[in-house]
Amino acid sequence: MNFNELNLKNELNLAVAKLGYLKPTPIQKISIPEILQNKDILGKSHTGTGKTAAFLLPILNNLDTNLFKNQTLIVCPTRDLALQISQEVKKYAMYLKNVKVALLIGGSNMRRQITDLKYSNIVIGTPGRIVDHLNRRSLKLGFLKTIVLDETDEMVKMGFKEKIDEIFAYAPENIQTLLFSATISKTILKITADYQTNPIAINLNNELKTEEHKNLKQFYFDTKHLNKEKALIALYKELNPKLSIIFSNTKAYTTKLQELLKQNGIEAVTITGDKRQREREQAIKLFKTGQVNVLIATDLMARGIHVDGIDYVFNFDIPKEKEYYIHRIGRTARAGATGTAITLVNNRNNYFDLKDIEKFQNQPINKLEINSELLDFKKNDDYKNDFDRPRNFDRSKNNFNRSKNNSNHSRNSFDRSKNDFDRPRNFDRSKNNFSRSKNNYNHSKNNFDSSKNYRSKRYN
Ligand code: ADP
Ligand code: MG
Repeated sequence: MNFNELNLKNELNLAVAKLGYLKPTPIQKISIPEILQNKDILGKSHTGTGKTAAFLLPILNNLDTNLFKNQTLIVCPTRDLALQISQEVKKYAMYLKNVKVALLIGGSNMRRQITDLKYSNIVIGTPGRIVDHLNRRSLKLGFLKTIVLDETDEMVKMGFKEKIDEIFAYAPENIQTLLFSATISKTILKITADYQTNPIAINLNNELKTEEHKNLKQFYFDTKHLNKEKALIALYKELNPKLSIIFSNTKAYTTKLQELLKQNGIEAVTITGDKRQREREQAIKLFKTGQVNVLIATDLMARGIHVDGIDYVFNFDIPKEKEYYIHRIGRTARAGATGTAITLVNNRNNYFDLKDIEKFQNQPINKLEINSELLDFKKNDDYKNDFDRPRNFDRSKNNFNRSKNNSNHSRNSFDRSKNDFDRPRNFDRSKNNFSRSKNNYNHSKNNFDSSKNYRSKRYN
């Protein structure tokens, strides 16, 4: 099927062609005609499947551009995602006149937002700031036709259910509601029951799963005798990623990793919830334009954010919630591209967490084997020094065993590595290793708990 067959305005078809889209993705094919006819949508679909265009194209198509009143409200969990969606609107609306967006996000100028709201016909924002504007009456929804809830499960998880209810309390009855979510929970079903009318349920998860995973290689890397920092640097030197994201579980550690990379000649930006909006925007811009090739982030960036050409995702820590593993690795291998996700494992707990994730996603995570001197402790007693002053790194990618293992294979490698953990050969080394990593684990657990306490504050 072609975009031309979807009955979109010529201006939109031109924009899509200009962006190089050849065919609509499955979710676009199904939802665009329904949204054009003002139907409600309950869309469950994997990340990187083109959901944004699936709702933006029909919304732009139906927008009355002679009317400078808010007709569409797009609600999403993070400022970064709201900003990204506003940029997508600009792309798809490049041949349309009078599409005016107001971006309502925290940490940015309120007065500017109030001015923008006087002329806007599309509003995009995070729940907290949207409700602020509604309470101040700077945002009025009298002309609203459509509400989009993007990444709804994430908003619910962040504690925004009540804000969503408040938003609907201000909206006219019987508006079109488009709800997108990676998972469908009881709360999501409640939102559907309360605010949607005969929604078209679109469930593309299964259909897309295998296709997606063909392009995404998943590995774990057992750092064994090395600490994770050294292992990470070694992986960078070995694999030479073009554009990569490193996920850390704590904000504090993102800065540490940034320094570590810098000492090794690798420039990186960090994005965490406690950063000022300007800094966050600057960081994502440097990363998106390829001026800086490494982004270090917390799970704040695990959802929804799309950057073209990310070839590696590293999990420095295993995420505390299994779903986040899937969201994190979904930052690579998007829209038909290929990518590799590598999770660092340095103790038994990590290993078992990883097994849980394997079960959860029903996909194997293979052991990464790299034959590099950098990773060989025995051969190289000066290892530490080498890292302080790296020289003569072997950048060849040949060492990277891109194993095309089938699942049987990976089972074996898991079992083998399990034995490694159970019966360490080198007693002294493994003992040190284990106690050290145990400390790490407790440490990061504490950090995580404390960060959880101000989680909702952080996102507001
Ligand atoms: P999702 O919200 O499902 O995670 P996005 O909407 O962020 O995915 O889309 C991912 C990427 O795919 C974006 O860069 C977008 O420009 C691109 N894209 C969307 N639709 C198409 C299409 N039909 N053909 C090619 N690329 C597309
Ligand atoms: Mg999205």
